[in-house]
Amino acid sequence: MKRLFESAAYDTAAAVPSLWEETAPPAPETPPLEGDIQADVAVIGAGYTGLNAALQLAEEHHLSCVVLEAGRPGWGASGRNGGFACLGGALLDRAQEIARYGLEETARHRALQKAAVARVADNLSRYDIDADTHSEGELELAHTPRAFTHMVEEAAFAERHFGLSSQVIPPDGLAEIGAGGHAFHGGVRLKCGFALHPLKYARGLVRAALAAGVAIHGDSPATDIRAEGGAWRVTTPGSAVRARQVIFATNGYAPDDVPPRLGLRTLPLFSSIMVTRPLNRDEMQAQGWTTDLMAFDSRILLHYFRLLPDGRFLFGRRGALSAEARAVERVRLDVRRAFERMFPSWRDVETTHFWSGLICMTRNRHPYIGPVPDMPGAFAAFGYHGNGVAMASEAGRMIADMTAGKTPDLPRIVTEFPREFPLPGLRRLYLRAATMQYAIRDAL
Ligand SMILES: Cc1cc2nc3c(=O)[nH]c(=O)nc-3n(C[C@H](O)[C@H](O)[C@H](O)COP(=O)(O)OP(=O)(O)OC[C@H]3O[C@@H](n4cnc5c(N)ncnc54)[C@H](O)[C@@H]3O)c2cc1C
Repeated sequence: MKRLFESAAYDTAAAVPSLWEETAPPAPETPPLEGDIQADVAVIGAGYTGLNAALQLAEEHHLSCVVLEAGRPGWGASGRNGGFACLGGALLDRAQEIARYGLEETARHRALQKAAVARVADNLSRYDIDADTHSEGELELAHTPRAFTHMVEEAAFAERHFGLSSQVIPPDGLAEIGAGGHAFHGGVRLKCGFALHPLKYARGLVRAALAAGVAIHGDSPATDIRAEGGAWRVTTPGSAVRARQVIFATNGYAPDDVPPRLGLRTLPLFSSIMVTRPLNRDEMQAQGWTTDLMAFDSRILLHYFRLLPDGRFLFGRRGALSAEARAVERVRLDVRRAFERMFPSWRDVETTHFWSGLICMTRNRHPYIGPVPDMPGAFAAFGYHGNGVAMASEAGRMIADMTAGKTPDLPRIVTEFPREFPLPGLRRLYLRAATMQYAIRDAL
């Protein structure tokens, strides 16, 4: 399969060196597909999108469903993210969104985002998944005084128009809530969202889907898809599924050359995470950071961080622009330097884990949930812009409903099929240019 980055980024046989892999319960058995089988729906990709779609198809619509996953279920971004179940999923800011779609549509989009967070909470309780949740809401921290002023205005707007309540924390109030230190100029705590162990969540969904009768096959990449007698034939090495309908749930890992070539409509981007050894109470106090709130800063190329329930500190930010070992090592050092700059009292606290994965941008700068044009019976959901724990969960349910012939009431922003990138072979250059531009804007 042809994809944007070097093959190391897609090597499903290589171990993911994440804390999550070390601390999640073992993966349920999902043997590779063998022989030719039939189903109502074939789902390609077993992350949050594909697993939620499969659960909805099986439980609500009583359709037979086969999930094909190139690696192990949860191998992609769903098993290696920061675990922020929060609002988000688009790169357009609030003003840009209103300028493009109007206030009413923007409010409908926020309502979908809120429903997505509630969906994750519902999944955890319905399927009895213990995913180490913590954090009541999320904390945005200003990296400049100007960013703080803007943040306060946005919080007031969101409360007034979207019913999103928040708490403004002035610079001298940060220490009081345990988010001290010198790196920030105030913050806003949005009272929506929570944090979780992403792989425990993914594997919990796998177990629930298997219990609901879904067939899930790991190590089963879909290498070709073609129309055959009014259905779709999805081929994996040595086997095939024949299904009336297909759901594409491949997000940042979508191939460029397998129909419908969704990869060409996406701009995958690495995000990287480091985790420290557990900090003790004195170390937390020394830095002034004791809150269990998940937090991020106001930069465009933002940093996201949280104290995990066992006292480790997770810190993430943009990753390399290549999967080559040298580039990855440079980013590992960059992430560590950024961590030490923002949390100087912890400069001697060792990093125990470092890993990366692909998030997915689109040219339209927002996600898509809907039919695949010119492919009758095919649906896709992707492009969560690094915020898919919640949105992918909800989007998976929505495309399953569409597959079953329902028409969910979706805001316009998520129903515009992303355009292909012009000269898609140049996407890595676009990425480099955008990263440089954003880094300059963040420094101003
Ligand atoms: C480091 C990192 C940190 C992140 N942090 C957060 C966060 O804190 N909060 C948040 O909301 N979001 C976060 N995200 C984003 C979030 O993880 C994703 O948006 C979400 O997991 C997308 O889910 P998905 O199921 O659509 O895609 P994925 O989980 O990426 O799953 C796609 C799957 O498709 C499979 N696949 C691809 N092609 C084929 C094929 N041809 N045949 C079979 N299978 C195929 C892949 O192997 C992969 O497992 C982060 C992402 C990363 C990488």
